[in-house]
Amino acid sequence: MAKNNKNCSFCGRPESQVDFFIMGQDGAHICNECAVQAAEIVKENTTKKSKLTNLKKEQVPKPIEIKEYLDQYVIGQEEAKKFLSVAVYNHYKRLMQENSNDDVEIEKSNIIMVGYTGTGKTLLAKTIAKKLHVPFTIVDATVLTEAGYVGEDIESILTRLLQVADYDVKAAERGIVFIDEIDKIARKGDNPSITRDVSGEGVQQGLLKLLEGAVVNVPPQGGRKHPDQKMIAVNTQNILFVCGGAFDGIEKKIASRLNTRVVGYNAGKENELVDKHNLLQYIAPQDLKSFGLIPEIIGRLPILTYLEPLDRTALRRILTEPKNSIIKQYTKLFKMDGIELKFQEEVLEYIVDKSIEFKLGARGLRSITETIMMDEMFEMPSKNEKKLTVLLPYAQSKIEKTNINRLKIA
Ligand code: ADP
Repeated sequence: MAKNNKNCSFCGRPESQVDFFIMGQDGAHICNECAVQAAEIVKENTTKKSKLTNLKKEQVPKPIEIKEYLDQYVIGQEEAKKFLSVAVYNHYKRLMQENSNDDVEIEKSNIIMVGYTGTGKTLLAKTIAKKLHVPFTIVDATVLTEAGYVGEDIESILTRLLQVADYDVKAAERGIVFIDEIDKIARKGDNPSITRDVSGEGVQQGLLKLLEGAVVNVPPQGGRKHPDQKMIAVNTQNILFVCGGAFDGIEKKIASRLNTRVVGYNAGKENELVDKHNLLQYIAPQDLKSFGLIPEIIGRLPILTYLEPLDRTALRRILTEPKNSIIKQYTKLFKMDGIELKFQEEVLEYIVDKSIEFKLGARGLRSITETIMMDEMFEMPSKNEKKLTVLLPYAQSKIEKTNINRLKIA
């Protein structure tokens, strides 16, 4: 083949360095290697697209189905599960209305969950995303600041979503973002003119744009370290935002609202029905406002739900019932070494008792179990034993020797 001065229009190499060229119009060429690469990119994107962007109605699970799935992983939290299942179902129905030609536009149903830390907010959001096979990311609102301050810009929320979506923008645009600790960006007082916490309100304003739906320029590698990177435009219109927060002290706001409301007609009767030990169940949007979220943000989080505090029974169930419960995980770890692991019921009760005593909640179950099992995990694989039953005195001896602060950090 006669060689001349042609170069591949993609990689720039001359014809002498490749096997052959395919000619295009106006003197364009593509070498055999670039052609193969291009074909691979096309293939990859088509499969990804069909998996993540062409959700069909039949593929979106019905609310009851979503709730049943959540039941396998999350104990209790009946109301939160129901609200989430309906909101998520409606969200994905909304994505499918793109092709409808009537004038009824279904609005976005972003969610806010209020509940003590360690009661399952993150777990709920994570489990839903797993069920739907959509990109999912968790961001902590405490690291967000207004542009120009030290910390991360609001747009960085979407960087992580893009990363988990493998930079498939279309997929990211249908993902779920869980914003944890949303209460930490609350304004410090109800009245903005008296105690104005500028950074908190500024961050809320920034976040508002994302929640409402906007085209945002996202730095693909994250905020500040790579100033030269080329921005990627992401439309947040169809991204579902789920926010969670403990809202420490919000019970006082709820109580005072309930008290003012029940003064007067029928007051006594209504008051009797209030369960003072679990005031979160009465949470209403105005309590979030009293806590310091701006009304615009509250308006963009129309689904408000709460999580129950976890009582003894719930903690005991969490230990063994979820599909990937802590005890099931340990059993599996030992089984991989050919060892049949059993726990005396009293040990399970003891783990729950200690978690309550040390005020560690559900997170404590893992650190306590880990402490009890550490020596056995170290020694058993080298022994020739095929069975291990963990007994109460053994568990007690391990915990009594441990510094409780170590359990807290874990
Ligand atoms: P939150 O986001 O409310 O602070 P998480 O969802 O991160 O709490 O919960 C921490 C861990 O505790 C979870 O990973 C899970 O192992 C366990 N957990 C908490 N609540 C539940 C629950 N309701 N059902 C099952 N496990 C739970």
